[in-house]
Amino acid sequence: MIIKKIQIGKIKVPLITPFKTALRTVEAVEDIVVIIETDKGNKGFGEAPPTAVITGDTHESIIGAITLIGKQLIGKNIEEFNKLIDIVQGALIKNTSAKAAVEIALYDLFAQSLGKPLYKVLGGGSNELKTDLTISVDSVEKMVADSLKAVEKGFDELKIKVGKNIEVDIERMKAIFHAVGPNIKLRLDANQGWTVKESLYAIKKIEEYGIVLDFVEQPVKADNINGMIKVTSEVLSPILADESIFSPRDAVEVITRNAGDIVNIKLMKTGGISNALKIINICEIYNVPCMIGCMLEAGISVTAAAHLASARSSVITRIDLDGPALCSENPIDGGIIMEGSKIILSDEPGLGIKGIDKFELLIELN
Ligand code: MG
Repeated sequence: MIIKKIQIGKIKVPLITPFKTALRTVEAVEDIVVIIETDKGNKGFGEAPPTAVITGDTHESIIGAITLIGKQLIGKNIEEFNKLIDIVQGALIKNTSAKAAVEIALYDLFAQSLGKPLYKVLGGGSNELKTDLTISVDSVEKMVADSLKAVEKGFDELKIKVGKNIEVDIERMKAIFHAVGPNIKLRLDANQGWTVKESLYAIKKIEEYGIVLDFVEQPVKADNINGMIKVTSEVLSPILADESIFSPRDAVEVITRNAGDIVNIKLMKTGGISNALKIINICEIYNVPCMIGCMLEAGISVTAAAHLASARSSVITRIDLDGPALCSENPIDGGIIMEGSKIILSDEPGLGIKGIDKFELLIELN
C-alpha cells in the first residue's frame, strides 16, 4: 500500500450546549481532518481540533504542519510503518495535534492493511467501553440540571468543570452531589484554575463534606510541578495530571516526582498513538493508572482513542471520551457508536470509518 494522495480539510459540528471551562468557551467543534489515500484505494482518516489555549495549535498551524509532514509521506509504503511514524514525529517539533491527526490516519491504514480493526492490531480487547460525561462550568442551578439530565441518559460518571471562584466551586460540588446521590462517580476538573492554596482549601472542604471524589484533575497551572506535588501529597483525593503531561518524558517527571496519582492521556497532547503507547508503558511500569481523554473532538480521533483504550484497558482504567456526545450531530459515517455512556467499537478493518459528511477540502497533496 503506497501513499498516493493526502487531503486536508475541515468539519464543523455545533455543540448541544456551549462547552465552558476555566480556560475557554466553545460553541462548535471545528476540526481539521486529514484523509490519506493509498494506491489500493484505502483511505485512512485523522482529525485534530485547534485547542490553542492547551496545545498552542490553531487551524492554520495544524494545516501548515500536516502539509509539511504530508509532503514527506507521499510515495511511502504503509508496510514500513515505524519509518512513517519516525517521519511524522521527526518532521518538526511540538505541533502535537497535527502529528496526532496524521498518526491516526496512518494507524487506520496500517490496521486496514492487516485486515483487522485497530484495537485488535494493538493487542485486542472489548468492543464495548463506558465513558463519563463532562458538565460545563455554569451557574449552580444549570450544572445541577445538566448533571441530572446526564444521569437520566445513563451516565454514572460525571466530570464536573469548575471555575475560578472556589466558594462557588465548592457549592457546585455540594449541590450536584445532593442532586445525583452517592452512586454517581464525581470527577472534578479545575483546568489549572486554582492556586495551590485554593486547591488545598477547596478539596479539603469537599472531602470534609463527605463527597468521595474519583479524582481532582489539574488543579493548578500545567508547569507548576511543585504545586502539583504539594496538592498531591496533602489531600486524600487522587490528583490527575492533564495539561502537565504531553510527552512520555513529562509522564516520567510527574510520576517520579509524585506530582500526580493518575495520568490523563490525550492523543492531541502526545502527538498521536505512538507516544501514547509509550506513556501507557511508563504508567504500567510505575503502577500508575491512566485516563484517556479528548479535546472537543468529533468521531474520528475519538474512535482512535477508544481503540487504544480497549487494547490497553489494564492501564487505562478511566475513559473520558465524550467529545462526540457533546456534538449535536455526527458527520462521521462509521467508527464508534455512542449510546448514552456506552461506546461500541466497529469490527471493520482499521477505524471502520467510511466517509465524512460536509467535509470542506482545503488542500490536496499528491
Ligand atoms: Mg482536563
